[in-house]
Amino acid sequence: MGSSGTCAGVRSQLGVYLTGSILPADRAVVVRHLASCAICRAELSDLSALPGLLRRPASQAAAEGPGQDPPSGYGAAAGSRPAASSGPALGEVQLSRLLRSIQRRRRRRRWLLAVAAFMLVVVAGTGWALRLAQPPGSGTETMANVLETDRVGGLTVLTDAEGYTLYWFGPDNPTMSACEASCARAWPPMAAPAVKGAGVTGTIGAIARSDGSLQATYNGHPLYTAIADIEPGQAKGNGVWDGGGQWHEVVVGGGRGTG
Ligand SMILES: [Zn+2]
Repeated sequence: MGSSGTCAGVRSQLGVYLTGSILPADRAVVVRHLASCAICRAELSDLSALPGLLRRPASQAAAEGPGQDPPSGYGAAAGSRPAASSGPALGEVQLSRLLRSIQRRRRRRRWLLAVAAFMLVVVAGTGWALRLAQPPGSGTETMANVLETDRVGGLTVLTDAEGYTLYWFGPDNPTMSACEASCARAWPPMAAPAVKGAGVTGTIGAIARSDGSLQATYNGHPLYTAIADIEPGQAKGNGVWDGGGQWHEVVVGGGRGTG
């Protein structure tokens, strides 16, 4: 017992879990705990929503004009009390440097939730820029999957960051996927954490799969792509019966999908 951690212990890890900089051993504890604790799943969902909410303040800060001389204090900021209330005044360069230094150190330590939230501000300000700046396959830590929308067949559907349509599976429920093995090879689960891109509303969460990996959920539906879609903008999986149930594209903006 105790292998799934306590709520307080897990919550202190949610920030680094979302940024992908969590240690593997800690990640396993968080995954196990999230699978059995709806309260902490809700906490994760709230934290996941933060970057979208914080994008506006970040651009406002940029408009105010960042200082040209770099503040020297932020190299050691992780060990001291972060000035969270004045976070938006930080420049992107300092934020990305802080994120990198935190990832580099990756020591086992218990982060305060305030630090976790501060790191989410870092992701909000620089996450997308870092994704673009990093060469593919550079071995960096997993970043959150960004959910987007696209018009497919006259409907607005949820997509991954590359524009591939996302699906939900009829037999699933909000805490468990019914798509394993060969099914999951035809319908690859979208890994958690996911965050909302511009214009995406709804509730994002995560479930633990039977292999211990985490899968992103949207309004309680575990998310998948379809290998039948060979390029963005397709929805060849919509309405298909496979793996013991029916597959549906995730329609957004027009209410819930039918089922
Ligand atoms: Zn909990």
